[in-house]
Amino acid sequence: MLSKRDFLRAAGLTVASRVTTQAFEPSADRKVIIVTFGGGVRYAETFAPEGLANIPRLAALKNEGFFYRDCRNLGVLSHFNSTASIVTGNWQRVDDFGFQPPASPTLFESYRKQRNAGAMDAWAICTNKSFATMGTSGGPGANVILPKQLLIEAVKDVVRGPGMGVADRENVQRRLESMLQEGYEGVGWTIFKEGRQLDHRVQQTLTQAMVEYINGPDAPSSGDELTFFITREVMREFSPRVLLVNFWDMDVAHWGAYSLYLQAIVRTDRLTGMLWDEVQANPRYKDKTTLLVLPELGRDGDVNTANGFLNHRSGDASCRNMWLLALGAGVAKGESEKPVSHIDVAATCADLLGVKWATAGKALPEIS
Ligand SMILES: [Zn+2]
Repeated sequence: MLSKRDFLRAAGLTVASRVTTQAFEPSADRKVIIVTFGGGVRYAETFAPEGLANIPRLAALKNEGFFYRDCRNLGVLSHFNSTASIVTGNWQRVDDFGFQPPASPTLFESYRKQRNAGAMDAWAICTNKSFATMGTSGGPGANVILPKQLLIEAVKDVVRGPGMGVADRENVQRRLESMLQEGYEGVGWTIFKEGRQLDHRVQQTLTQAMVEYINGPDAPSSGDELTFFITREVMREFSPRVLLVNFWDMDVAHWGAYSLYLQAIVRTDRLTGMLWDEVQANPRYKDKTTLLVLPELGRDGDVNTANGFLNHRSGDASCRNMWLLALGAGVAKGESEKPVSHIDVAATCADLLGVKWATAGKALPEIS
């Protein structure tokens, strides 16, 4: 005969097992990474049949995940507003160049508040220099790192210095180190730990990663490569549970060079693939991570618009109708034509992280 305790346990009714298996445990360990093809890319150069050659990694990964064929950006077609809509779950209409924070709470804030998560648990690593305020609408949110901007500022300072026509690597390194000590909020980073003083471990990690990068075998040639490099260091050092990675090189399209635009897409595909490889290789991420990849926005179509791929202001289908690829933990395999939208991403991530949060978006049922 079962004791009362055995009976309760067998029925799954003890408090511990109910809480452990149904409420907290699945989300306590879950991590989410949002990757944006920021700067905007069209279907034509990505998942349209003629675009697949540019994205070999994503084209292959698509078969392992869930692909939403019709993910729409119905908001303002600027960079800051598009990505702010993704991370807040509400269509944003703030300053296009990042002079205002998002107008409603971000996923990072909601997560930190509800799950009592620490300052190292939420990060945004962005190539776009106007994203310094992307981490929060006001309260404690994500640490934001703008690696390319940090590097540019360091190089500029060195070149401006007395007797320095050309930035040499040692001087850049020294300048970077002091910038990370002094505090350059809004220029290269915003860290929540300890107010204006950058946490020593964060400072060391970032400095080390930047220095390794500028002294590495390849000349630092791309903001997105640096963003990837810093992201990987942050994952290895701090294992954040919520991470936004903004690639942005492809917005070079505004300058009118189609070949550079294509090169940036090919590179972003490769870097996104490498990020997925890191998730698989890192035991703190493997089998616990849901990765969501989507273009921030599209670009103008070639028909009936003046400039085609150069801009993203026409508001036509080529600008708005994008895709979303979900990979990893809790993702069913398959694809769907059902229209979803950018604001559904935050609601979906909130569900995965065990955060109760009302946004205009809806959690996607294929991801749990
Ligand atoms: Zn642009």
